[in-house]
Amino acid sequence: MVESTIPSGREAPPTSGQGWLGASPDLDAAIGGTPLILLRRASQATGCRIYGKAEFMNPGGSVKDRAAAAIIDAAERDGTLKPGGTIVEGTAGNTGIGLTLVGNARGYRCVIVMPETQSQEKIDFLRMIGADLRLVPAKPFKDPGNYVHVSRRLAEETNAVWANQFDNLANREGHRRTTAAELWQQTAGRLDAFTCACGTGGTLAGVALGLRALAERDGSAAPRIVLADPEGSALYGWVKDGSLVVEGSSITEGIGQSRVPGNLQGIDIDDAERIPDAEALDQVFDLLIHEGISIGGSAGINVAAAIRVARAMGPGHTIATILCDGGARYQSKLFNPAFLRERNLPVPPWMS
Ligand code: PMP
Repeated sequence: MVESTIPSGREAPPTSGQGWLGASPDLDAAIGGTPLILLRRASQATGCRIYGKAEFMNPGGSVKDRAAAAIIDAAERDGTLKPGGTIVEGTAGNTGIGLTLVGNARGYRCVIVMPETQSQEKIDFLRMIGADLRLVPAKPFKDPGNYVHVSRRLAEETNAVWANQFDNLANREGHRRTTAAELWQQTAGRLDAFTCACGTGGTLAGVALGLRALAERDGSAAPRIVLADPEGSALYGWVKDGSLVVEGSSITEGIGQSRVPGNLQGIDIDDAERIPDAEALDQVFDLLIHEGISIGGSAGINVAAAIRVARAMGPGHTIATILCDGGARYQSKLFNPAFLRERNLPVPPWMS
């Protein structure tokens, strides 16, 4: 009798996005609802309130849990994903982790295609959670061997569902519905700017769409939307003058693009900041040792961009950014003095 009163959570429409705010019927319903943390030193240094959304607290440890759940929700709704079905995706790792965990919870198998250059920690974690992992050499997007194309072909050949996070608009829709709504609520509708790096662009685009709609609803000025771009990505130039040129490189993972993914198309971005790795690492190390907040490289890029935007806007503004994932995912790189020294990058002061 007791069992019959326990909801499976799947009778109702999927509820990802409830996060930590209430009881969750299953693990993937615990995605989202992440804390918005005041970054004390960045705020003190600029006279602004700079907040980081703690996406590393999602079940799979990254912001990509939201996209994974939204993509699976949409494929279930449109009937392409059938019970016991298989999902194939090309990913820098975090989307693969999100898809595999949500897939485990709902009975789907996941085949994950990933460039072999990504961190060992993500590779090990994907294997640990049961992903069917296919590592491929890193190739530019125009090469048919690029991981995205390999994953598309694999899905076609096996009649599986291709998640297609770059062009599948369910990705940004998930962020519009959850991430943007949470940010607006957590800042009580007083948000002056938002900074964010792009892999697929789902986070930036979805948050931009959502925040603008909520600001309009409430008669507030729309927050300024600023792209945070690493070196080696063409998106900074695309926002600044419409060009698409790749120059330099970055040790960050999961962000930077040589093209404009479908999720970013049609989205007005107000401005862009290009952040060198050393500037991002300063934030990664500073936040960890002074505020106890462990973040990865893309989150470091996001925080560095938020600080630049705060300085440009002047004191008294509220700026939010995304803490995409945690530092433990990159122990062998961002916290490895030998790796950093080889690349002339700063070493965590307490490790040097
Ligand atoms: N940071 C990390 C660590 C990521 O893995 C990703 C996704 N690849 C992003 C940021 C970018 O998120 P989005 O795909 O929504 O642009």
